[in-house]
Amino acid sequence: MLDVSKLRSAYGRIEVLHDVSLNVRATEVVALIGSNGAGKTTLLRALSGVQPITSGEINFCGERIDRLPSHRRVARGMTQSPEGRQVFGPLTVADNLRLGAYMRRDKDIDNDRDHVFTMFPVLYEKRNHAAEGLSGGQQQMLAIGRALMGKPKLLLLDEPSLGLSPTLVDQILEAIASLKADGVTILLIEQNANAALEISDRGYVLESGRIVLEGSGRELLSDPKVRAAYLGLD
Ligand code: ATP
Repeated sequence: MLDVSKLRSAYGRIEVLHDVSLNVRATEVVALIGSNGAGKTTLLRALSGVQPITSGEINFCGERIDRLPSHRRVARGMTQSPEGRQVFGPLTVADNLRLGAYMRRDKDIDNDRDHVFTMFPVLYEKRNHAAEGLSGGQQQMLAIGRALMGKPKLLLLDEPSLGLSPTLVDQILEAIASLKADGVTILLIEQNANAALEISDRGYVLESGRIVLEGSGRELLSDPKVRAAYLGLD
């Protein structure tokens, strides 16, 4: 579904992604892990078209998309739920979800909204509240719910567990696992390597802008380097 080949990207003259290649097959959950500053966010921004690339290719569903503007990539089914939530604060939860579906013309929108409410019951309870009054975790759920309302083929999740309490992290991970069960394809960017790899089919480790390891979630969880560098275990 997604095939990234030898991607390079720079801020000014400083290259931060060096020949990054990875792929995500339909219905997989793939984790991209790496420490602060490894280039995870830059990679996601390059995929969604807000960060220029200097060379390499991005293919999505058999089509080369790296020269398409962001909105065209979204229209083709690639949606990002950004880090830091970025929900529309003054709007209600229900309106935020409706906005996620603005490109759709089909009739399943209400069903999909109900599905989001089933996944995150607190969003139903707060459906008529302004999004800015929600807790950080609830805003994160809303951001994911809003992205889902666009019925993406591929969901790009940027650090969904960032800043959340362990209970909320568990809830978000359960939601991701249930999306996987529904057949949604996900590229999950996480610093929380343990949590991400537990629910992922495969994973990549990004270090200083390079993919240094790849494998199944289980392989990476038992890899001595990953355990030492990202899980704090030896
Ligand atoms: P984090 O988890 O902290 O977001 P990350 O893995 O997502 O880390 P990036 O944010 O992609 O990493 O940053 C990769 C590198 O690019 C870092 O060295 C960072 O300092 C640099 N960088 C990020 N944004 C900019 C920018 N706007 N201008 C210049 N350099 C930047």
